[in-house]
Amino acid sequence: MGNNEQPNNLIGIHAGVWIGTWTPESTTYAVDRTVEAGFDLLEITASDVESIDTGLLSSELQRAGLKSTVSMGLAFDADVSSEDALVRARGVKRLETAVELAKAVDARTLAGVLYSALGKYPGPATDASRRNSVAAMRDVAQASRAAGIPVALEVVNRYETNQFNEVYGALKFIDEIGEDNVFVHLDTYHMNIEEAGFRAPIVAAGDRLGYVHIGESHRGYLGSGNVGWAELFRALDEIGYRGDITFESFSSAVVDPALSNTLAVWRNLWDDHVDLARHARQTIAAHIGAARATISG
Ligand code: MN
Repeated sequence: MGNNEQPNNLIGIHAGVWIGTWTPESTTYAVDRTVEAGFDLLEITASDVESIDTGLLSSELQRAGLKSTVSMGLAFDADVSSEDALVRARGVKRLETAVELAKAVDARTLAGVLYSALGKYPGPATDASRRNSVAAMRDVAQASRAAGIPVALEVVNRYETNQFNEVYGALKFIDEIGEDNVFVHLDTYHMNIEEAGFRAPIVAAGDRLGYVHIGESHRGYLGSGNVGWAELFRALDEIGYRGDITFESFSSAVVDPALSNTLAVWRNLWDDHVDLARHARQTIAAHIGAARATISG
């Protein structure tokens, strides 16, 4: 398509590039570095949502003129797919807190692994766990709709959830939820593990693609791994995707106590996150430009 009259994608960065915890100082640090590196949007990881000073974060984002996404991955003791009612209740409460945070910071999307724990399950999803998960997502979608915030469920690899691991499974799951403000959130790091290439899943999602994470196959510098970037960005252009595109990267240089071990961040893939972020911003913008310049009919 390459229709230049359509608005540009906002380019975001995951807070995990900058900080491991949300102290007042680190909140300001993440906001300032995001602006300096040229990004439009900061993704707020709400894995430890109780530690976030919502008022401060909201005013810092406004001061900097930054948009935001709120993302969450549930812990096993707060898993809404659990067959234990107490565990499920803790998960529902955490999701309610995430929706409240998304409202408070005027987030453009509520994204991530909202539908299960983020981590390796000991067996496949049961029918009961799926029913629990779908029901919880219906409630989140309805609560978010009141605030005008779309929900995007992230497709992650088999070691990080057992509900679904590729785009077709996600679409079927979202069909079961039956709410029109629930979309697919694709992440190139996970796509590289589970999907048949980088074009097919994007085309399959089509106008139901709500959010994109840009991560290299080892979660380090873009272009130094196995992700097929040209194929991916051409596919995004082909479906006319104008949603947000957010860079995500992890290194042992920045440790989030609530997330790093879950994501198995054992290696140091970078030390200089300012250089990493600038490189990522330029790489993403260049790929969007190149895809748009391609005559794709
Ligand atoms: Mn991701």
